Amino acid sequence: MKFYITTPIYYVNDVPHIGHFYTTIAADIMARWKRLNGFDVYFLTGTDEHGSKIAEAAKVKGKKPQEFCDEMSVKFRQTWKLLNISNDDFIRTTEQRHFVAVENIVRILFDKGLIFKKKYEGMYCIGCEKFLAKKDLDEGGYCPFHKIKPILQSEENYFFRLSSFQGALLERITDVSHEEHIDIQPEERRNEIVGKLKLGLEDISFSRSTVEWGISLPFDKSQTVYVWTDALINYITAVGYSKDETKFKNYWPVDVHLMAKDILWFHSVIWPAVLMGAQLPLPKTIYSHGFFTLNGSKMSKSLGNVIYPQELVGNYGVDAARYLIVALIPFGLDGNISWQGLTLKYNTDLANNLGNLISRTLKMAEKNFNLKIPQAFLNLELAKNVEKKLKETFISNMNNLQLHKAAEDLQDAITLVNIQIETDVPWKLAKTNKNKLAACIYSYLQAIDVVAIHLLSFMPNIAEKIWQITGASGNINDVARKYFINGVIPKDGFSVSGRDLQGPKILFPRIL
Ligand SMILES: [Zn+2]
Repeated sequence: MKFYITTPIYYVNDVPHIGHFYTTIAADIMARWKRLNGFDVYFLTGTDEHGSKIAEAAKVKGKKPQEFCDEMSVKFRQTWKLLNISNDDFIRTTEQRHFVAVENIVRILFDKGLIFKKKYEGMYCIGCEKFLAKKDLDEGGYCPFHKIKPILQSEENYFFRLSSFQGALLERITDVSHEEHIDIQPEERRNEIVGKLKLGLEDISFSRSTVEWGISLPFDKSQTVYVWTDALINYITAVGYSKDETKFKNYWPVDVHLMAKDILWFHSVIWPAVLMGAQLPLPKTIYSHGFFTLNGSKMSKSLGNVIYPQELVGNYGVDAARYLIVALIPFGLDGNISWQGLTLKYNTDLANNLGNLISRTLKMAEKNFNLKIPQAFLNLELAKNVEKKLKETFISNMNNLQLHKAAEDLQDAITLVNIQIETDVPWKLAKTNKNKLAACIYSYLQAIDVVAIHLLSFMPNIAEKIWQITGASGNINDVARKYFINGVIPKDGFSVSGRDLQGPKILFPRIL
């Protein structure tokens, strides 16, 4: 079974910020989760490098567009490396493999009569990289997103017959039994798309004559492919379209396109129409998440309140940063964050709940058994309760990208173990019944191991550390894969009697 998941390719006019971070972490968690479940995963991210906005930005810096893109693209790759993103591929739209794919698609659409030449005059926003209608502008005649005045442009362009796909798109989006059903999530966003689709579709500009920084049309070298179409095609380029037929057949269609809601229209209408035009299979799921506000206000460069991933990592560490951002915001909805909120969540979930569980267990083992896993009767009841608790909802929440709920499930499981410790009052057993104390600690360790396995997609490094701390045997990734495929705790448990408990006693220092 394969699983192909994508983030959007990010526009290189900006360095990675919290928005890029959120989408990419969510995709990474899914990719890791599916790998653990035995899927052959292809996880794609990359950079979108063409268009007049990029050419402008390069010019401002006194650089050639390619040079500028090379530098900016590296920043994304470095950031993803810092955040332990496990992408299988990183595509750049300035790569040769992408030129070939775009040219092929464009030629097919042209040959089918889906692209035609037309004179067009309109207000073009360089920020949006598209023509805006009068109704799209604010009172002053400015683009509401970019606060700049669109320029009146008249040019002869090639147009794509998007209008001819209205019926076919509506059918595929609304009919769940359609064999090419496109599942747009969340539901409210899908309803918006359907509502807009029902109003009808206009043919759209497919090329630009004034933009040089792009891919030329194979049948008219005076025009370049519209940057949006160019970008969308990356999703098939990366899995071998027009280069590696076997790879393409294996991974396409994509299982999940992930993105923020502002680019959902491009992905759920224009992209499927292009694919239909080229007679290629359609995406299975298109999932959009919301926007962030910081302390209730929109994040923007001009307000100077944009959060960068490096800051989150600096404050909380890589794994905690990964966890916090998905745990705090309901996936699919808009979310407000604040530094206080992040720190509170860190202290509650990580320092007090998970961190405390690990450190109190270690302390007992240190005091009474010299940091060795005691020889004791193996009781897996607590581990099985934790497992049962997680099986109820964690798995379906993960599979449905309800990552914030899955994070809650993890916390509930951790709480379950903490409550058991409160009930056992093991520190009292130290004097009265050391055998029972040994058995208690041994059972906590097994339960912690179950938690670690489920934590692995969110916090890969921390989960591995916990695995070491509890003296569990084998590589956690291998054990987890076996566990998720077989679905049962091995009869001997995970942590092994006699092994040393090693590693930091405090995984998450409290932040004041
Ligand atoms: Zn704009």
